[in-house]
Amino acid sequence: MQIEKLPQFIINQIAAGEVIERPASIIKELVENSIDAHSSKIEISVVNAGKSYISIYDNGDGIQKDDFHNAVTLHATSKLHNLNLNEIDYLGFRGEALASIASVAKISITSKYKDSNETWKAIYDKNNVRDLIPATLNSGTKIEVSDLFFSVPARLNFLKTDITELSNIINTCKQIILPYNNISLRLSSNNRLILNYPPSTIKIRISDILGNEFTDDLCEVNYESESCKITGFVGKPTLNFNTQNKLFFYINGRYVKDKYLSLTLKSTYSSLIPHDRYPIAVLFIDLPKKDFDVNVHPRKLEVRFRDIKKLQQNIDVAVKSVISKVSNISSIFIANNFRDSLIDIQNKNYQKSNKTTTEIKKFNNDLIFNNPTPKINSLQEDSSDFEIDFIPEFSDQSKEQEHLQQQSNLFELQTNKPDNDIDLGTAVTQFMNKYIISKSSEFIFLIDQHAVHERVVFEKLKKNFYDKKIESQQLLIPEMVYLSENDIELLNNNKDKIKELGITFKKISNDLIEITSLPIILIESNKSELIKDLIEDFTNDDDMTCNNSMKNKIERILATFACHTSIRSGKTLSVEEMNQILRLIETTENSAQCNHGRPSYIKLSLKDLDKLFDRI
Ligand code: ADP
Ligand code: MG
Repeated sequence: MQIEKLPQFIINQIAAGEVIERPASIIKELVENSIDAHSSKIEISVVNAGKSYISIYDNGDGIQKDDFHNAVTLHATSKLHNLNLNEIDYLGFRGEALASIASVAKISITSKYKDSNETWKAIYDKNNVRDLIPATLNSGTKIEVSDLFFSVPARLNFLKTDITELSNIINTCKQIILPYNNISLRLSSNNRLILNYPPSTIKIRISDILGNEFTDDLCEVNYESESCKITGFVGKPTLNFNTQNKLFFYINGRYVKDKYLSLTLKSTYSSLIPHDRYPIAVLFIDLPKKDFDVNVHPRKLEVRFRDIKKLQQNIDVAVKSVISKVSNISSIFIANNFRDSLIDIQNKNYQKSNKTTTEIKKFNNDLIFNNPTPKINSLQEDSSDFEIDFIPEFSDQSKEQEHLQQQSNLFELQTNKPDNDIDLGTAVTQFMNKYIISKSSEFIFLIDQHAVHERVVFEKLKKNFYDKKIESQQLLIPEMVYLSENDIELLNNNKDKIKELGITFKKISNDLIEITSLPIILIESNKSELIKDLIEDFTNDDDMTCNNSMKNKIERILATFACHTSIRSGKTLSVEEMNQILRLIETTENSAQCNHGRPSYIKLSLKDLDKLFDRI
């Protein structure tokens, strides 16, 4: 069989296979072209989620009459002046998009070049200009695409429902336009306006795109090192999600999907949010052009970094410096959600008893006006009634004393006080031996005592570990723990690290070890369970790709330790103890969430309560 050079229209269709997968890929390429053409306004319209019609109209530089043919010719571009792929200044550079679109759909381009008074419309037949006719347009370029995949009908079968394809288009528009807050973008579907982003500040643009319910929980990142600049916003740790779709990374203005960047961020938040959850973040990373390559993916969604490790370190430092200041402040979004769910429960209860909303209002008003002098201290309970069993029970007195001493040592912890002053007010009461209720002049707080204590112990352990001050104690009677051969080998391989954590052990046989010493704080714990958790922490490799994975492992182990030592919910606390805990939260880093990322306290204002009672 003879080897033949393929005809150009087949070459174009092959290229289209990589670049144009679905309507959203067309939108991506066309929006990028409008941005590259210096537009300040982009209007997109789709019919049937772009399957039958897409138009995009911008007010950019326009296309010259002589360029209409080249615009849809494969590998023809106006963006690579010095023919150097290391010097890319635009989002586009491969000259593939319009050629690919023209080979799989019907296309026309109407354009008024910026230095010309004439407007021309080119109607294409595949990759050739069929007609070039005079037209009218105020400025810029309008590109219309119809009958997607008419030339490769098999591809139509791979398209999803209109709802899914439209949601891909919406996400694509959001991803691309987010950093370009000076450019307005409107998207209509079947003549209905569904996205409308006017020119704005970057913070407003982010709120428009991510949802303004998160605005108050976003913290600004502004970091510069000799190798990169990182700006943007990251969320408070208590705000976390089960998918990555609120992570936006931009390299020099280009949206990229990069698992290493996501992993870095996950690892930065690792001891603050659960392992299977993701934070919210929009990071604009500016790198010298020589330090990354965008020509690795036909749709330019991935980039290759010259030194990913260094970049990961920079991101870690940039983000940590911000979240360390806010990680003892609970998310406003979570509090609002909590309030809304209370409202929901309340409404459902009323609905059950067949009361209408106006009746609820009347009911609330009556209740308030018929009881003008509420019992101010009705919440306050006499703390002397409470048994002081804040600490675990012990069989003998001296042990109890010793443990009390350890606990109070823990409470002496004053880690670097975070910048934001928080005031959790004074403890009012404890509810069901699980939650503390406190109030300040402006807020009421609900505090999860176990979550908070666990965080306090964890931060203390971390500090002691990094200061090399973990106090270990020899066990009078060594504890035997049966394990698999593999697990024993793993422990043996990490013997030194484990010793640094205050645990020493001896291998007795292939399936038995003897624990000889433990950190004082863990003396009372279930040792076999503790060792098994430790092994699990060591084997859990989900963040091995990150340069600080050993540090993560250690912190995960310390979090496990904290969990084994902390007071469980179910302990009665005196008012003094509650206040002691409140002061600890105020001064402990990261105290707004427990070590598993659940919020440890929730703050409610008068306005929140008014809303709860339907008074506003
Ligand atoms: P690339 O963007 O990689 O250059 P494209 O196929 O997307 O390749 O576009 C080809 C050329 O058509 C661009 O280089 C540009 O000169 C021109 N072009 C495309 N869209 C527009 C537009 N909206 N405004 C002005 N020029 C455009
Ligand atoms: Mg392009």
